[in-house]
Amino acid sequence: MKIIYDLSLKELKEELENLIQKMPRFRAGQIFAWLNDYKQFDEMTNIPTELRELLKEKYIDQPVKIEKEFISKDGTRKYLFSLSDGNTVEGVLMEYKYGNTLCISTQCGCRMGCAFCATGIDGLARNLTAGEMLAEILVVNRHIGGTKADRKITNVVLMGCGEPLDNYDNVVKFIRLVSDKEGFNLSQRNISLSTCGLADNIKRLADENLAITLTISLHATTDEKRKKIMKIANAYSLKELFFAIKYYFEKTKRRIVFEYIELDINTNKEDAERIKELCKGLSYHMNLIPINTTPHSEKENPALKPASKQKASEFWENLKELGISATTRRTLGSDIAGACGQLRRSTILNQDK
Ligand code: SAH
Ligand code: SF4
Repeated sequence: MKIIYDLSLKELKEELENLIQKMPRFRAGQIFAWLNDYKQFDEMTNIPTELRELLKEKYIDQPVKIEKEFISKDGTRKYLFSLSDGNTVEGVLMEYKYGNTLCISTQCGCRMGCAFCATGIDGLARNLTAGEMLAEILVVNRHIGGTKADRKITNVVLMGCGEPLDNYDNVVKFIRLVSDKEGFNLSQRNISLSTCGLADNIKRLADENLAITLTISLHATTDEKRKKIMKIANAYSLKELFFAIKYYFEKTKRRIVFEYIELDINTNKEDAERIKELCKGLSYHMNLIPINTTPHSEKENPALKPASKQKASEFWENLKELGISATTRRTLGSDIAGACGQLRRSTILNQDK
């Protein structure tokens, strides 16, 4: 069975024409409108029953379901989504003054194996399709009372389970689908893609002519330190990574955002100075993140020792003195398995018991 959300309006038109002869031209548009409200085929009241039955035979209309919802004291909602093959991924909905931001997953698991991250522990199960990523947004939008005409989700970040640039084609297709004027019509300016730094694909992305924000999980300022916590540092040096980031910036003129977990090894004065040096010529912002409980203990990997509160605040001062824009991220939803992959993993572990 195919996922109907993988189709653009144009592709849906073509598919329907092959499916039924003499189909009125407006049918595809009607179905597409329902889909953007995440309605099931049976809810599409202006579509003839016969056609609905045909669609049901060929396509999956609810590729993403909300399996569990956790609501944090601060209002953050965390979702465990189930996919049609039984795999699970996570999403997080955060309320800000300017609107609702949904964090979605791009892969079931991840093969990048960053030491601090729960998603990577069991490796990659599979990629999500473009339509599944879109459906993560549509299912939550519907769940909180939104429609296509009255969107309750205003911003999307690709920061859940998975490495978006390791699922390149589907992710780019998803960005085009979700920002399609005839579809959900989310502005590309309101989409952020977070990557651990696949330099070659950052360069490719720069040439796609998209207006999204690129977010880089930097986490260290020397290759030596980065290799201790991120395997990807063995594939791409900081020099190669920053060459790609600068290319992206030149092409798009979009401000780059860096994610930086506050560890004891990476919050020295020299680190602040190196950030300034590495980022020369860029317009950028640093997001400092207090590290969430890690899957590997500090004993196993001493590089994961968190920065003390004082060291972290001195680091922020150092950055400020160097004229670097930096904020410490609000730790939203820390009472509901906040960090990437923790919820999915705790569910997998419970299933095993
Ligand atoms: N694969 C992409 C996007 C998903 S991870 C990437 O790595 O950027 C999203 C963010 O969560 C990354 O910045 C990642 O470094 C961060 N993260 C993962 N585990 C974390 C933890 N235990 N504490 C704090 N941040 C974490
Ligand atoms: Fe994958 Fe991102 Fe987790 Fe690293 S931090 S293992 S790239 S999901």
